[in-house]
Amino acid sequence: GEVMDPRLNIIDKRFENVQRIIAVSGGKGGIGKSLTASTLALILTKQGFRTGLLDLDFCGPSDHVILGIEGVFPEEDKGIIPPEVLGVRFMSITYFAGYNPVPLRGGEVSNAIIEMLAITRWNELDFLIIDMPPGTGDPALDIIRLIKRVEFLVVTTQSRVALAVAKKELQVLKELGVPVAGVLENMRRKEHSTVKEELSSCKVPFLGSILFDDNLEDALGDPRELLKTDFAAKLERIVKAD
Ligand code: ADP
Ligand code: MG
Repeated sequence: GEVMDPRLNIIDKRFENVQRIIAVSGGKGGIGKSLTASTLALILTKQGFRTGLLDLDFCGPSDHVILGIEGVFPEEDKGIIPPEVLGVRFMSITYFAGYNPVPLRGGEVSNAIIEMLAITRWNELDFLIIDMPPGTGDPALDIIRLIKRVEFLVVTTQSRVALAVAKKELQVLKELGVPVAGVLENMRRKEHSTVKEELSSCKVPFLGSILFDDNLEDALGDPRELLKTDFAAKLERIVKAD
């Protein structure tokens, strides 16, 4: 059984020298979790923080596409050392799966997450950003169980569909006693948005709203261009204010 799994002790050790661990999550897919996680890692690195980025969306890994990472492979040395890409220590299942899809069932996902956390040597980091798959299913529950100090950053859009799911997630996090770094509204299109008010009863910090950025697609795959977008500029202001 799991109590006997030696990897669980190793995981504690792997995060010993990581100061803050932030899981970027949100109930829905396509709301900008990966973009936020990747850009946040770039911004923190630019600010001089030792930063790691872990893409934990095994079925839909995206950070390597957003950051334009290809042709790098982690080094093995009593574990796996994530390669540094533009100063960000980056770990993703794509190193091992390449361009192949990774069809995993529930239990296998949990096992792959445990394996990934156990083998990766982050060493000393100020921030580890984790790009989560959508929802509060097994992967989120695994991360909460395996990484005791994890904080969640919840992304939502103004759509009532996304909001309804964000509220549920915040409720789950509250029930589990998981700290919430804040909620971020993304892809805002209208002058008026009710996200802040809608979530006020959840008693979590509202970090701000990022507008839908028409020029964003062109900057994907190029971190320097990505940092020049309105999206990144706004996210940087939000990070600085926090
Ligand atoms: P998720 O990880 O939540 O599934 P992604 O980060 O992959 O979402 O974003 C989905 C798509 O939306 C991507 O093509 C991304 O570039 C785009 N996107 C995200 N946020 C914005 C924004 N503020 N403006 C324009 N496009 C955005
Ligand atoms: Mg994603």
